[in-house]
Amino acid sequence: MAKSHDVIIAGLGAMGSAAAYHLAHRGMRVIGFDRFAPPHTFGSSHGKTRIIREAYFENPAYVPLVQRAYQLWSELESRARTTLLLKTGGLMIGQPDSELVAGARLSAERHALEHEILSSAEVTRRFPCLNPQANMIAVYEPRAGILFAEACLSAHLALAQSHGAQIHDHEPLLRWRADSRGVSVATERATYRAEWLVISAGSWAAQLLADLEPPLTVERQVQFWFDPIGPRASFSATRCPVHLWQFDDRQFFYGFPDLGEGVKVARHHRGICGSLDSLSREVDAEEIADMRSLVGRFLPNADGALRSAAVCQYTNTPDGHFWIDRHPAHANVLIASACCGHGFKFASVVGEILADLATHRNVSFDLSLFGNRWPLRAGR
Ligand SMILES: Cc1cc2nc3c(=O)[nH]c(=O)nc-3n(C[C@H](O)[C@H](O)[C@H](O)COP(=O)(O)OP(=O)(O)OC[C@H]3O[C@@H](n4cnc5c(N)ncnc54)[C@H](O)[C@@H]3O)c2cc1C
Repeated sequence: MAKSHDVIIAGLGAMGSAAAYHLAHRGMRVIGFDRFAPPHTFGSSHGKTRIIREAYFENPAYVPLVQRAYQLWSELESRARTTLLLKTGGLMIGQPDSELVAGARLSAERHALEHEILSSAEVTRRFPCLNPQANMIAVYEPRAGILFAEACLSAHLALAQSHGAQIHDHEPLLRWRADSRGVSVATERATYRAEWLVISAGSWAAQLLADLEPPLTVERQVQFWFDPIGPRASFSATRCPVHLWQFDDRQFFYGFPDLGEGVKVARHHRGICGSLDSLSREVDAEEIADMRSLVGRFLPNADGALRSAAVCQYTNTPDGHFWIDRHPAHANVLIASACCGHGFKFASVVGEILADLATHRNVSFDLSLFGNRWPLRAGR
């Protein structure tokens, strides 16, 4: 069968939509498939907002990537003529030797990023909506902010289409095969051939890579929006930076200013891990009470009525770093599993990297943190 496309993309969420845009922009013939109609509420990219931050506590190796991501989000905003990023500043709050604070400080110092170290009292004085414990400090970085998640995804997809990409919603990939001549994929509707396949299926990636038995786990996460009690203005984007907290040893939560829909807060990890089929979309009273107790401790003026809640899921690797590499048995099959609860901000640069790989350009980043690094099965 003749190849009518250069690249097939399986999954058009944050990563796949960015890949579709960068590839189509370079003149590649792209066809992308999704199980649903992105942006949708069944994967990892909904809930309106995602944090972007530069003093990266997880590892300083992410900093050059996020710096390129900032440039690409800005370019995308200009091309799509819409606002995708709102700069609010960001606070990483915890004990001085916590993974969060020590890690953010290390990245900031190693990459000479603009930042300040604030005492607990200084945090409360400058940002009265926040109530850190006396033994906590904060790393403040002025460049952090908010990405409007669904708008980012829609912008990538719309521009990809304007450069000729074909987008097939509600048409999941069922199977794929690859050899040195190319790839062929099957959906319920047809079989398609191309030179390259990008697997960016988020929480469903393990199904499409079942031959490798990758150690990916799906973790349920709940996002909450609470009404402020007291003056709303103290949670406005000019007075409330995005904030991440590490508390009680190894627990994390984060929050956003009130953008008109309430104060958004969520735990980072500690969700139930299990199969996609068993993942409940209902939020129970115990979960609400748990989040209220954190709000009461750290953001007491956000303890008003619960406006809404949304269940989302992380796709985790064992070490919390992304998985971006070629399939170990097929160099023309690219894997982009970049979640672990912190991948969204990188989608723009991950899309560019996937386009570099599929157009034989040099990738200008060290991707060794993200390579095939577990004992994967040999593959077909
Ligand atoms: C609650 C929550 C909060 C987060 N907060 C942040 C944050 O503040 N900052 C940050 O940087 N990151 C954050 N993240 C992580 C970030 O959102 C993810 O890294 C990102 O959304 C992952 O994108 P993805 O493209 O891998 O997955 P998705 O966006 O879920 O896309 C996968 C797509 O594949 C499709 N698909 C599935 N199976 C198939 C198939 N067989 N064929 C075709 N298509 C298929 C799905 O329908 C879906 O559209 C958060 C994640 C969650 C869940």
